[in-house]
Amino acid sequence: MYFDTHVNLHAEQFAQDLPDVLARARAAGVSRMVTICDRLDRYPAVKAIAEANDDINCTVGVHPHYAKDYWSLQAETLVAEAAHPKVCGIGETGLDQHYGYSDIVLQERSFVEHITAARETRLPLVVHTREADDLTGDILEREYARGPFQILMHCYTSGERLARRAMDLDAYFSVSGILSFKTANEVREVTGRVPLDRVILETDCPYLAPMPHRGRRNEPAYLRDVCRAFAAQRGLSQEDAAQLTMANALRLFGRIQ
Ligand SMILES: [Zn+2]
Repeated sequence: MYFDTHVNLHAEQFAQDLPDVLARARAAGVSRMVTICDRLDRYPAVKAIAEANDDINCTVGVHPHYAKDYWSLQAETLVAEAAHPKVCGIGETGLDQHYGYSDIVLQERSFVEHITAARETRLPLVVHTREADDLTGDILEREYARGPFQILMHCYTSGERLARRAMDLDAYFSVSGILSFKTANEVREVTGRVPLDRVILETDCPYLAPMPHRGRRNEPAYLRDVCRAFAAQRGLSQEDAAQLTMANALRLFGRIQ
């Protein structure tokens, strides 16, 4: 059985055939999924998918790309929404200076509100970070010193130093289909040093389809291919890799029964 910890099932790419996508996921052994909220105006749709499916939970949050659209977001709003029993995490949040769609000051502000909500609710914080290693590390360390919270570095592709800093804060890391890309040596190297009890799997679908589906629309059924790449990276059997990452994910997302 597999746990896809990061899917974007509300994405337009799934508007036509979500029931088929979910049927293929279940047939492929994906028994749990977390569908991620990226904007509060999409949260009702995200929550509705979780409510309609026993094997799907959701998060609540604002992706750093959209921080400017929610410049007045308060932690209390996230905390109130997180009272819903299907919400198992806060985010995705973080910093993205690759695209830079929102001013970095607004991204940081939003990130800190999400951290406050994660600390208060004790739900894991789903962190996106791209070309912002030092600032991400600084904010996580500073906020952690004010009171701990559970960190998930999602789809980790950043540097060794930030990985170390996050590991020192007892963070979990999720790996994606990028592990299966020929050119991703650095990602394999950095994530290969994360302790085995701190790694989980995700597809990040509809993006980042793993080999041999690269370039196509990604879907949770392809988590098997992500798992195969992870098993190869660590010298595990596919079955052991699936079992280990499932146990880790259930420990991290403690609200999921
Ligand atoms: Zn992300």
